[in-house]
Parts: sequence; structure tokens; C-alpha cells
Amino acid sequence: MSSKRDYYDVLGVSKNASEAELKKAYRRLAMKYHPDRNSDDAEAETKFKEAKEAYDVLSDEQKRAAYDQFGHQGVEGSFAGGHAQGGGFGDIFDSVFGDIFGGGRGGGERVYRGADLRYDLDLSLEEAINGTTIKIRVGKLNTCSVCSGSGAKKGSSPTNCPTCDGMGQVRMQQGFFSIQQTCPQCRGKGKIISDPCGSCHGQGRVRDNKTISVKIPPGVDTGDRVRLTGEGEAGEKGGPAGDLYVHVIVRDHPIFTREATNLHCTVPISFTMAALGGDIEVPTLNGRLNLKIPAETQTGKLFRLRGKGVRSVRSSNSGDLICKVVVETPVKLDKKQKQLLEELEQSMASDGKHHSPKSKSWLDGVKDFFDNLTP
Ligand SMILES: [Zn+2]
Ligand SMILES: [Zn+2]
Repeated sequence: MSSKRDYYDVLGVSKNASEAELKKAYRRLAMKYHPDRNSDDAEAETKFKEAKEAYDVLSDEQKRAAYDQFGHQGVEGSFAGGHAQGGGFGDIFDSVFGDIFGGGRGGGERVYRGADLRYDLDLSLEEAINGTTIKIRVGKLNTCSVCSGSGAKKGSSPTNCPTCDGMGQVRMQQGFFSIQQTCPQCRGKGKIISDPCGSCHGQGRVRDNKTISVKIPPGVDTGDRVRLTGEGEAGEKGGPAGDLYVHVIVRDHPIFTREATNLHCTVPISFTMAALGGDIEVPTLNGRLNLKIPAETQTGKLFRLRGKGVRSVRSSNSGDLICKVVVETPVKLDKKQKQLLEELEQSMASDGKHHSPKSKSWLDGVKDFFDNLTP
């Protein structure tokens, strides 16, 4: 795979193609090169895979941005497979082509798969880390409960279409040729409903809200998704339902910032504690923990509490909690306190020791800078 073609060239679209244009271009290529239509054609298979890969990258906002900036290198490794986050080819393929290749390959009555749905789910950091079960309400096309999806009035059932005799296809004579066409009366379904169900008007599906319970496994993060098979829209005329993809978005936390399996937090300490050392309590997700601050701790120092981070949804190892200490400047000092500080300052200035390691190296740096600057 040394000379990969440009993904935009593969799809035959411009660099600023919209999502709809990408989808259209991909659809056209995939229809042309789909293995079902080109059995044992190695070249078609390669073209099909190439188009799929291009679409996989360009239809994903993040991957597209990476590709635009870094080219193929920017998205390498996206196709390792088996990755819970990226989704395989199958996922994308189903969502674009669910209604085309979902059924009807065997001839006769066509079956239409319902559409896949996406639901963005906001979670708190605690919910994402510990896992939870959440009820969500999804407005979608559900199978009509009155006719059980058949579209026919209760007590009646769809009958074979008289025009095509249930085949869904009719032969038309045109000169010497006999052309097979989709039946105009039943539109390829092979069945007609003479007495439609009043509840769904013969559609077999009704739009309403459904409450669905979603089990979120512990350790999920923004960008992860949970697939609920069969919870998408109901299929037409008893076709299989689509899937529901719940996309996880983790809200910001007031104390912790998450970075993969590590948690970060900032802990303020007084300058006396920074100088003399001591013990402080730091928050973790399972309560408080003691953290020993050694004497002469500088502001910004990081302390790592091993295993106190987050467990990933994909492994059982926990990350670390990384606490950054920040030395606070005291405020609202009274006269006496100010005087004590001045005495301290004078005492440190007159004992001949370096009490400010950073200032010393900083001043040395400044001196070097000017020494080197003057010719
Ligand atoms: Zn109905
Ligand atoms: Zn028909």
C-alpha cells in the first residue's frame, strides 16, 4: 500500500464536499462495485474497498480533519478493526445502505430494513466511570401495535398483488426485448392492502416516543458509543428494525479533568505548607486520600497517585490520579502579619543562603542572555 490514492479523488468529489455529496458519491460507487453485483471480480472488490475506506475517513469529522492536515498518515491505523470506537465497515455500510441491500436479494417480496438512529447521551464523569443504566426517550417509527406491522386492518391480511401475482416484478415487452420492471401497482412489494389498518394508514409503522433503557458499561468516554440492536426505526412491512447508536458525551467535572485513564486535579496549598511540608487531603472519586507534601515543594509540582484514576471500558487497568499543587499567595494580611513577612524576608536576605532556587536560575539565565547579546 505504498501509493494510496487521494480519498477525494477516489470518491470523485471536491475537497470541500458536503456530507450529502460524500454520501451520494460513495453510494454511487458502492452500487457499481458492490460484491453482490460483481461476483469474482477482484478489481471491483478492490474499488469497493477503496471507496469504503475513503468514505469511512471523510464521513468522520475528526478523521477528515486529520486526513486534510496530514494525509494518509494522519488516519493510519483507523482500519485495524475490532475497535469498539471506530465501528467496522459493517456499521457504516448498514447505515448508508440499510434500505437498499437489507433485503430483496432473493427476489420476490422486498423487505425494507428500518433506519439506524443516533442518540447523543450526556453523562456526568461519575456516571461514565462507574457505568449506569439510563432511560432515554426516542421519537421514532415503531411497529404499529394494532396490525403488528402488516398494515392491514385487524382480521384481514395483505393479499398477493394481482398485477404481478406476488412477484413484485412484471415483464414488459418492448420490441424484441422483454424487460423486467418493478410492479407499478405494489411498487415491488408483491402484496397489496385492500383494507388498510386505521391506526397506521396501511404503513405498518407509527411515529411515537419509546422509552428505552440503556446500559452504559463502566469506563466509557466521550466518543464511545453503545449499539442497541433493533432499537432503531421499525422496518417497513415487517422488515428488520434498524439499530440505535447511543453516542456518549461526558460533561466537564468541577474538580477532575479526564485524560484517557488518568484523572487530573489542581490542589491549592499554603506557602507555609509548601515550605515546611505536611499532609493534605485530596479528593478522589471514591472519597478522600491523604497526600504527603514534602518540605520545599515548588508550585506546579505534580503528585501521582497510582491506580486512583479511571478504568477504561476496554481494559481492567486503572490509570492514575495526578494532583498538581499550586502555592497560594496569602491575602487580607493585617499589619502584624505583614510585619512578620517582612522580617522573614530580611532574615532570608541576610543569612547568605539561596532561598529561591527558581529565581536564582532565572536570574542566571537573564544574565547569560544579556552577556551573549552584547557584541
Ligand atoms: Zn397498523
Ligand atoms: Zn405487484
